[in-house]
Amino acid sequence: MTDDNKHLMDEEHQYFAKGSRIKYFDIVIESGQGAILTDADGNQYIDLLSSASSTNTGHSHPKVVKEIQEQASKLIQYTPAYFANEPEVKLAKRLAEIAPIDGPAKVTWGNSGSDANDAIIKYARAYTGRQYIVSFTGAYHGSTYGSITTSGVSLNMTRKIGPLLPGVVKVPFPSPWYRHAGESEDAFIDRMFEAFKLPFDTYLPADETALIEIEAIQGDGGFAKVPERYLNQVAEFAHANGILLAVDEVNQGMGRTGKMWSIDHFPEVTPDLIAVGKSIASGLPLSAVVGRKEVIDALDAPGNVYTTAGNPVTTAAANATLDVIEEEHLVQRSHDLGLVAEKYFQSLAKQFDFIGDVRLYGLNGGIDIVDPKTGKADGLAATKLIYRIFELGALMITVRGNILRFQPPLVITEDELTSGLEIIKHAMEDLKNGKIKESAALKGIGW
Ligand code: PMP
Repeated sequence: MTDDNKHLMDEEHQYFAKGSRIKYFDIVIESGQGAILTDADGNQYIDLLSSASSTNTGHSHPKVVKEIQEQASKLIQYTPAYFANEPEVKLAKRLAEIAPIDGPAKVTWGNSGSDANDAIIKYARAYTGRQYIVSFTGAYHGSTYGSITTSGVSLNMTRKIGPLLPGVVKVPFPSPWYRHAGESEDAFIDRMFEAFKLPFDTYLPADETALIEIEAIQGDGGFAKVPERYLNQVAEFAHANGILLAVDEVNQGMGRTGKMWSIDHFPEVTPDLIAVGKSIASGLPLSAVVGRKEVIDALDAPGNVYTTAGNPVTTAAANATLDVIEEEHLVQRSHDLGLVAEKYFQSLAKQFDFIGDVRLYGLNGGIDIVDPKTGKADGLAATKLIYRIFELGALMITVRGNILRFQPPLVITEDELTSGLEIIKHAMEDLKNGKIKESAALKGIGW
């Protein structure tokens, strides 16, 4: 056998860059249908991660596959940097119409969430003529220099590669774990908003600041939703000072949170720009920035072009993805199944004292694993859990070391969801009973 998991993984260790894959389990994914994945040895797994939320419509959805096949046989590529293609034009119109932007919107393409977030910096600087950018600790915006600089989630992303993009200032994201014991929600929001304002009060001229970018619900930062009043105040501050507000919807958009966009959870906030990626084309490399028309018009060609961005196959896949989201009511489904999952996790939290907190927004969220004695993050226990979950036939990973990342495809069947949840419970029972031993396989897992 030359193409089994072990053989392929041996070769991957030899030839593949260690900086390009976060270590989890030594498997090679060979195929997927809906929420079910099959590895190179024929083992099947329930996907509780949706390929990092890049396959909200499930793996190889038949409608998406059909559109890709039909478009590929017609025209795979003529660079959208020079000539338009039909699926791209249709998609631009659809996205401009459904994006949570006030007034007329326009769209630009990228190949990844990372370059979409770089583009946001360009558009904000071009439109405002200002240089400073404000973003948040705990954010993940991507892996290009611009988007690494606006990110703030992992020292391994910034170590060895500095200096980063100049002009980016980081403020603390009001994650629940920064709330002091006994502190009221209001006092917490006031304290965090003071911290947000501190740079502006001391050295950062608001009138030279172009942009504030935020994930309204941080994904890789641990499934933390920004408190509503805090975001309202940030948006008000931005508006009052002529600063643009961008929301990164790459992870939490496209129906993931039980609403089409994560910012739809905040009725008083309207962004000037959003970044969309991951699930937009059901896993093909496409991203978009949607923004107020005048902001997008501020950049001249070729200020934001990539040879394949907006390619007809990826944009055809994205049109099919939007069709599937509508036809299969995936936004509602995310909301409804999210409530089922949340109830289940809350019942697990009553049984297992190592569950610190459960935060679900649609079929999407994080389960904190803590040391029951201290309440502190317990990364080893979380690693043991995901490893056991893997052995039992489901795929989950951790974020922030100790948080289980729960993001099944939105098309997951109720039976598959139940089986996935039962696997998690089974793993938790094994952890509680001391049945999951430390092993070599657990070493170096996660980030
Ligand atoms: N923004 C967010 C919120 C993300 O979660 C990610 C990916 N984890 C990105 C941007 C970067 O997207 P990509 O990996 O496609 O460049």
